[in-house]
Amino acid sequence: MVRVSAVSRTYRLGTAVFEALRGVDLTAHAGEFVAIVGRSGSGKSTLLNLIAGIDRPSAGSVVVAGTDLGQLSENRLAAWRGRTVGVVFQFFQLLPTLTVAENVMLPMELSGGVPGARRRPRALELLDQVGIAALADKLPSTLSGGEQQRAAIARALANDPPVLVADEPTGNLDAATGDAVLNLLEGLAAAGTCVLMVTHERDIAERVPRTVTLADGRVAQDTEAVPC
Ligand code: ADP
Ligand code: ADP
Repeated sequence: MVRVSAVSRTYRLGTAVFEALRGVDLTAHAGEFVAIVGRSGSGKSTLLNLIAGIDRPSAGSVVVAGTDLGQLSENRLAAWRGRTVGVVFQFFQLLPTLTVAENVMLPMELSGGVPGARRRPRALELLDQVGIAALADKLPSTLSGGEQQRAAIARALANDPPVLVADEPTGNLDAATGDAVLNLLEGLAAAGTCVLMVTHERDIAERVPRTVTLADGRVAQDTEAVPC
């Protein structure tokens, strides 16, 4: 479902060249739940951004659900984004002036993948799936952190993507709330979604079946390396 091959990402800062990722290989299948760990600056967010099509590698290839992202023009990559890969952030990033249901409907509108009349019913189904159907018509600011993250997960699932990437999704939540969000991600993987989650929390990573450790932009350890 996700195949990252010999990927490097360099940043040029003036005359200096900094390698955020160097020669990274990673394969993950449908239904797999992978934790990506490593100290701050090891390249975790950079890797997720490449898989989500938010950023492009300097070398190597990223193939997601059969599409080689390097072959897509900027316009086609922009259209592809959010349809095949749902993205969840640490700080939720819900639009404050839209209701929870409207936030979930937005990716459906942007992609045009869900007909107009189906958008609100689909949003309500997703909010029910993450346990906050009763909050559909509230503004995000009136929700707790855990409820906002559930809303953000529902939004990430709007276009029924086969891959979900989550960057520190529990990083801004208390332990019990983070646990509930983790249960939700586990359920999605069990239902066939390929879930890749960055976390620096050891107890969270320990609950995930496979852990990939990055160090200085390389894969230092993979508890379950799967051959391509
Ligand atoms: P992590 O998520 O593991 O903390 P990141 O992927 O955010 O690591 O960053 C990896 C390294 O790349 C860091 O040293 C960071 O400073 C650098 N980096 C990330 N994004 C940029 C950027 N846009 N420009 C320059 N350097 C960057
Ligand atoms: P994380 O919480 O994952 O460690 P960072 O704080 O490393 O995230 O990075 C946050 C954002 O800032 C990212 O989008 C990253 O690309 C950008 N960034 C990180 N380091 C640099 C840098 N040295 N120069 C420019 N942008 C950077």
